[in-house]
Amino acid sequence: MATDGSLHGTYAADQSAAQLEQFLGDPNHPDAVSAFSRSVEEDERDDMPWPAMDALRSWGFPHFLVPQALGGRMRSFQELFSMCRTIARRDLRPGVSYGTTLLGANPVWLWGNARQQHWLASRLLAGDFGSFAMSERDHGSDLAGCQVSARRDGDRYVLNGEKWPVGNATRGAFCTVYAATGPRRFSLLLVDKQQMPTGHWYNSPSVPTVGLRGHDLSGMVFSDCSVPATALLGRPGAGIPQTLKALQITRTLIAALSLGSLDTGLRLAYTHARGRRLYGAPVTELPAVRDILVRAYLDLIIGECVSIPAVRAITEVPERLSLWSAIVKYFVPVTVERALADLNTVLSARGYLRDTVSARTFQKLHRDQAIASIFEGTTHVNLSSIAADLIFAPSGSGGDPSLLPALFNRRAELTPWIPEGRRLHLTNGGRDEIGGAWPQLAARLSSWKPVRRLDAAYHEQTARLFSIDRRGYRSMVGQTAARVHCVLHAAACVILNGTYNTGGLFTDESWMIASLDRLTQHLDPTWQISPGPLAAVEEMLIKQVEAPELFSLTPIPLAIG
Ligand SMILES: Cc1cc2nc3c(=O)[nH]c(=O)nc-3n(C[C@H](O)[C@H](O)[C@H](O)COP(=O)(O)OP(=O)(O)OC[C@H]3O[C@@H](n4cnc5c(N)ncnc54)[C@H](O)[C@@H]3O)c2cc1C
Repeated sequence: MATDGSLHGTYAADQSAAQLEQFLGDPNHPDAVSAFSRSVEEDERDDMPWPAMDALRSWGFPHFLVPQALGGRMRSFQELFSMCRTIARRDLRPGVSYGTTLLGANPVWLWGNARQQHWLASRLLAGDFGSFAMSERDHGSDLAGCQVSARRDGDRYVLNGEKWPVGNATRGAFCTVYAATGPRRFSLLLVDKQQMPTGHWYNSPSVPTVGLRGHDLSGMVFSDCSVPATALLGRPGAGIPQTLKALQITRTLIAALSLGSLDTGLRLAYTHARGRRLYGAPVTELPAVRDILVRAYLDLIIGECVSIPAVRAITEVPERLSLWSAIVKYFVPVTVERALADLNTVLSARGYLRDTVSARTFQKLHRDQAIASIFEGTTHVNLSSIAADLIFAPSGSGGDPSLLPALFNRRAELTPWIPEGRRLHLTNGGRDEIGGAWPQLAARLSSWKPVRRLDAAYHEQTARLFSIDRRGYRSMVGQTAARVHCVLHAAACVILNGTYNTGGLFTDESWMIASLDRLTQHLDPTWQISPGPLAAVEEMLIKQVEAPELFSLTPIPLAIG
């Protein structure tokens, strides 16, 4: 860990998360601000964790959703990402409520005028929630199918139709509505719900959910609902690109929810396995159990290595987010989903019974986390988007390698966020510093067995990309190419994290070798993690459980007692 004189040696970008962690308290303790025992009770009642939500508000968390220029405390997305991990390791629901609010706010930060921005900042700083109403019952991922209309009538827009399902739709104070303002012409409108004419809109009933129980999920039905024309965000007709670009930011942050969930899932499974004795020894000594625990730890570390450069890119090189945000949004939630399913087998019957807080916490986080691969672009939508970026520029270019230190060095200071919609692009235009770094990284580390195997996959992949028809990004060949690309991208991220960071857990390269072995398993299920690195990583896992620290290469101390 960094020993820069900061809080417990924590990295600067993680300081706020470290403070929030202590404020929220030890979730195993029933009196903590955010306690597992209360969360599972609230979950049973389909109720939100209101005491924890109120505490987050009083601590000032909503200030981190508002850019500094507008009076907030949003300095960097890495800081917000770390805080979201801290929240999500206890309970995903506050993270989703605030994430949904940020989803609704980002188009305003990016394209709103000063009046809209100052109004929204005042609402968020006062603790209000908000929504982004994009989905419709009959159109889901198909944005161009949108039927909610906003007809221009003098100095007003008149809304008709239903948006569904929409998070925070009932309790939120504002809503960014995606609507058709003409034939195949879509726009975003910022709506102040207090100002909407009574009788011309209502909330459709709240929808019960498998996970995220109690999340305010309902719909908004508009019937000749007139709003001022000044509600328009940016240019009329820019709704599709604005939506796709705004999603690039929150898609990246969703990985924090997945990593926070896996942190708790792994901690619970490990604690159970260590205490469970069979055949005269803890089950952690059974190779199958040990393998699942170490793989889950590696999945978490790899997920962190993939997420952090994308999160840093939001301020450093937002032009690349179309590709990198889709990779994070596909790769991290899906990997975490699989890891949680495997960890559930370690709990065995205890994972099926509902008689302990630990078992119910695991079951809850498993259900809650499943949303991460659905909303804000499903797994397949993101794979299609990755495939499109790859197929349109199969040879790619390394872009500007001088950006790599700013993306990967976790100590490097980040540029404060100045929201600029024009810096977000719908495609990366073939520029990819991370993917483009692979050939040199592979050459440098060619003595590592998994690097040689991954490099062979890289060459097969390059040939595959040239053979795919440009319209084939939704084909299975396109989807498969995208999946393989994500594995290679993750491998490059692992090595680049190891290259640009020093000290602490970065000193010993075992985690890198084990992570590359783990990634090779995505392409070759017969591949084994090398015994030496596996033992070293197991030791990292045990040390972080005992410390206790967040499972991370740059950990923060966890609240105890
Ligand atoms: C808890 C929760 C909270 C939500 N919050 C919000 C919110 O705040 N605001 C909001 O607007 N919406 C919200 N949604 C809706 C959510 O964003 C949509 O459910 C999601 O976009 C997918 O739409 P769909 O479920 O209709 O699936 P569909 O779009 O009907 O997809 C069906 C299948 O087709 C696949 N598919 C679709 N398009 C493609 C493609 N281009 N390439 C390959 N495969 C494809 C999908 O992966 C899926 O397998 C929420 C949903 C839930 C469950």
